[in-house]
Amino acid sequence: MAGTTDIVIVGGGLEGLAIAWSLAERGGVGVTVLERGTLCSGMTAKSSGIVRCHYGVPSLAAMARDGAEVFSSAEQILGADVGFRRTSYIVGVGEVNAASLRANVAMHRELGIEVELVDHDAVAQLWPGMRLDDFAAFAHEPGGGHGDAYLTGMAFAKRARELGVQILQGTPVEALRIGPGGDVIGVELGNGDRIDAGAVVLASGVWSPELAGPAGLDLPIRPQREQILLVGTGEPLRDVPVFSDLVNLQYFRGEPSGELLVGNSDHSSPEFADPDGYSNRADPGFVEVNIGKLDHRLPAMPDPRIASSYAGCYDVTPDYNPIIGPAPVENLFLAVGFSGHGYKISPAVGKLAADLLLDGASSEPSVDAADFRFERFAEGRPLVSRNPYRGAGEMR
Ligand SMILES: Cc1cc2nc3c(=O)[nH]c(=O)nc-3n(C[C@H](O)[C@H](O)[C@H](O)COP(=O)(O)OP(=O)(O)OC[C@H]3O[C@@H](n4cnc5c(N)ncnc54)[C@H](O)[C@@H]3O)c2cc1C
Repeated sequence: MAGTTDIVIVGGGLEGLAIAWSLAERGGVGVTVLERGTLCSGMTAKSSGIVRCHYGVPSLAAMARDGAEVFSSAEQILGADVGFRRTSYIVGVGEVNAASLRANVAMHRELGIEVELVDHDAVAQLWPGMRLDDFAAFAHEPGGGHGDAYLTGMAFAKRARELGVQILQGTPVEALRIGPGGDVIGVELGNGDRIDAGAVVLASGVWSPELAGPAGLDLPIRPQREQILLVGTGEPLRDVPVFSDLVNLQYFRGEPSGELLVGNSDHSSPEFADPDGYSNRADPGFVEVNIGKLDHRLPAMPDPRIASSYAGCYDVTPDYNPIIGPAPVENLFLAVGFSGHGYKISPAVGKLAADLLLDGASSEPSVDAADFRFERFAEGRPLVSRNPYRGAGEMR
């Protein structure tokens, strides 16, 4: 059996579905999403869903700004609840990083992001019981918070379907099909069927290199295992701000269940894993280190206990930033390598990808498409923060 469409998207996770939604909003183009399992069953299902604009790369800060707008008006824009809680976001740094924090906040203000430098007293009000004496400076984003990545992806899918996108689940792509001229002409499915397409978007997360390789494209993406703890604090948490602790290299936020979700921001010794065969629970060493950090930061917690744990894999690139743009193989488009921070920018990823696929240029002046080009690695010009944090550079 063969089919034909304008654009095939490989991968029904957050990014593939955001792109499908944005293309459908633009209209006039046939789009088919192919997902080998069920929608959002990949790493999207593991996301902490944190929303903040605190980046040292202006394009990323602007994309996060635009993403937060979609999350906070999801009912109107997507017709569905995406579980967004506008709890606000605080990032705290030590003396060594205070100048970078101030420079980032100034840059964010220029981008129209609502953010303020706050002092220890203000943070003590926002997050009662937190130990703050080892921080030198804080930034507070009132519009930050967290959403549900699964619900968000499903909301993109719902809206895309309403606008005519075909979404096929249980449909693995076996290979990209290459024409006589070396260009991509479509995909071959696991059952041998073929779909011809004018363009193929690779949005298959950590599994992208295995499809790109046989097409002659060596994607610099590795699966980095990340562990998450859910901690019962001994008292019900109110909607506390999301907190990035760049002294202890840890982040935490409240869960709707009242527990605390605790994650790692120390990427100095990454653990690369098999995305189809990694341990889905926290290691004893991780628990010890991270509960120690939490005890230090929240000494007032009356009776902390570990309620649960799990792990997921980030699809990391060498600079911990995504690749969004055309591949050096004709008709192949890349939306891969989100490196553990693809949730907050996903609506803007959809928009940027649709702009590039349909017009060849970004329509958002504060989002420079060239930042995300695949070629930057070969050129030796990685995408890095303008105001990096010592010891905590990745993902900011
Ligand atoms: C533990 C963890 C915490 C995170 N926390 C945050 C956070 O707080 N804030 C934030 O902004 N981001 C966060 N992220 C990152 C964010 O969740 C991801 O960047 C995003 O969900 C990735 O979406 P994706 O569509 O690229 O990948 P995926 O969700 O993995 O989707 C890829 C899809 O492709 C499918 N697929 C693979 N191969 C094939 C094939 N051959 N044929 C068809 N389909 C195929 C898979 O089944 C999968 O569904 C976190 C990620 C993890 C793992």
